[in-house]
Amino acid sequence: MKLILLGPPGAGKGTQAKMLMERFAIPQISTGDILRAAVANRTEMGIRAKEYMDAGALVPDQVVIGIVRDRLQEADCERGFILDGFPRTVPQADALRRELSLLGRELDAVVSLEVDVDVLVERLTGRRTCGGCGRGFHVRFDPPRVSGVCDACGGALVQRDDDREETIRQRLQVYAAQTAPLVDYYRGQKLLREVDGMAAMNEVQGQILGLLAVK
Ligand code: AMP
Repeated sequence: MKLILLGPPGAGKGTQAKMLMERFAIPQISTGDILRAAVANRTEMGIRAKEYMDAGALVPDQVVIGIVRDRLQEADCERGFILDGFPRTVPQADALRRELSLLGRELDAVVSLEVDVDVLVERLTGRRTCGGCGRGFHVRFDPPRVSGVCDACGGALVQRDDDREETIRQRLQVYAAQTAPLVDYYRGQKLLREVDGMAAMNEVQGQILGLLAVK
C-alpha cells in the first residue's frame, strides 16, 4: 500500500497514519517528524529548518525532497508507505512522481481529509504530545487522565512550538496557498479519495479502509 495523506494541519493525518501503519505494517513517513528530530538533534539541517518551522513557513522543497528520496530507499518501504505531510507543494509532488517512477513504483491513492477550517485552530491549540512515547492527546477532545502526564508511559506532555495561535494561522494560510492545489493535482491523476475528516477518529479510519477496499 503506497499512500499519501493530504489535509491541512490538524486534519488528523498523523493519527490516521499511525493507525494505518499498524494495520498494514508499513512505515509512516512524516517529514514534520523527521524535521523535528533533526531540530532536536541540532543537526545542520535541523538548525536551518527550525527558522522556517517556527515561522509557520515551509522548509525549502530541495530539503524535504532529499529527505523523502533517501527515506523511500530504505528497506522497510519495500512493502509500502504512508506519506504524512509530504508533498506540500506542486514541485514536491512532481519530484515524488519522478522518484517513484525511477524506483518502478506507483501510488495507490491520495487520501484527502476534508475538514472545516474553523475547527482547526481549536484542534491545534489543544494538541499535546508525549515527549517520551510520542502519543498524542488533546486538552479538550482527548485529555489525559492526569493533566500534563501521558496515560501510556507517564512521560511529560509537551506542546509543539508551532502549535501556537499566531503560527497556526500562518500555517493555515500557507496550506491554502501552497498545498491545497494538490487536491486538484491528484484529482486530475485520478488518485484522489476524499474522506470526512470531521468524523470521529475510528469512523475516519473506517472510511479510509473502505475506500481502499480493505475488510
Ligand atoms: P507537520 O508536522 O507536518 O505539520 O510539519 C511541521 C512543519 O515542518 C511545517 O509547518 C513545515 O515548516 C515543515 N514541513 C513538514 N513537511 C514539510 C514539507 N513537505 N515541505 C515543507 N515543509 C515541511
